[in-house]
Amino acid sequence: MKRFFKMAAVCAAVIFCCGCSVGRAGADEQGGAVVQHTDVVFGTVVQMSLYSKEKEASQQAADDVMELLRSLERDQISWRLDTSEVYRINKSAGGGQGIALSDGMKELLEQSLEISEKSKGAFDITLGPLVQLWKIDSWAAGEEAGNVALPSQAAVREALGKCGFGRLLMVQGKQEGEKLLKLPQGMQLDLGAVGKGYAQSETIKLLENHPEITGAVISLGGSVLTWGSKPDGDSWRIGITDPADTGSYVGILELSGQWCISTSGDYERYVELDGVRYHHILDPSTGYPADSGVRGVTILSKEGLSADALSTACFILGSEKGMELAEEYGAEALFILSDGEMVLSEGMEKYLTVWTDR
Ligand code: AMP
Ligand code: MG
Repeated sequence: MKRFFKMAAVCAAVIFCCGCSVGRAGADEQGGAVVQHTDVVFGTVVQMSLYSKEKEASQQAADDVMELLRSLERDQISWRLDTSEVYRINKSAGGGQGIALSDGMKELLEQSLEISEKSKGAFDITLGPLVQLWKIDSWAAGEEAGNVALPSQAAVREALGKCGFGRLLMVQGKQEGEKLLKLPQGMQLDLGAVGKGYAQSETIKLLENHPEITGAVISLGGSVLTWGSKPDGDSWRIGITDPADTGSYVGILELSGQWCISTSGDYERYVELDGVRYHHILDPSTGYPADSGVRGVTILSKEGLSADALSTACFILGSEKGMELAEEYGAEALFILSDGEMVLSEGMEKYLTVWTDR
């Protein structure tokens, strides 16, 4: 593990960025055909560059990725759209009989629950009542207080009482392999901390079925997926946002091949009330925004869902316990602390060039 005090003031002409709301794509067209596409899905900006020998193939793959992302949001992940599985699950709360899960949702929930266990409850996909109480979905980065009011302590306590992954029940259904989910009365799933990572994992499967795609980099909010290589063999370059100055970077990750990079930061969604920043990553032990001395966590992993869940969990756990959890998953981690200090796992040191003055 290594520690740095960062000093990054310069911002090179960049790359894809991780941990900021809008990334910029470098127009890199040597050899091969690259298609660049920017869109909105999961309530955030998606940017992709897809490389192949022919432009039509890159375009087709870009269309397929967009269709996949839209269908994941519409059919599975969104808690707002009444077409989605999460919406139906949330509606079923307190129903007693349980609701049959799709294979994808079963996998997502099982992996999420494992991380809940291993993080000792810091990560919890049942925080829907709390997330809705705080109205996190209506916040943007740096929103002024405006109409936002701080929920009362009693309301936070009441919402928290409806949460708790330990009360989720997954039981065997009548059909072979069928799993039923039983959600207690009042509990609501919120997959905001894993949805994008799950989408990355599904995108990897899609790219595996597009052998004509030689390289891709896809940024979805705080998550970036790299795949294959650029035609000129150059590395994928991912800028890591400086939480203290979100127009700048603390360093650059240089990667080749398949990687999932997920960042959770207190600057991604927050409101300020009376000079206090209330951000979107909640500590399930208090019901309030986590206060672990961390401003940003970046996880580097081969797998999307765990990278996303881990960046959220590690933010809440802080650098010491968070580093242990990341290690358990064989993932690399970077913690940016409130005083600007950076704590890196050994593997992360290999890939990250820290912009430092010493
Ligand atoms: P991320 O940006 O991936 O760290 O995810 C943050 C989002 O996950 C929030 O906007 C909430 O929707 C949800 N969330 C907040 N706190 C937690 C938590 N402790 N465990 C799981 N999900 C959370
Ligand atoms: Mg996350």
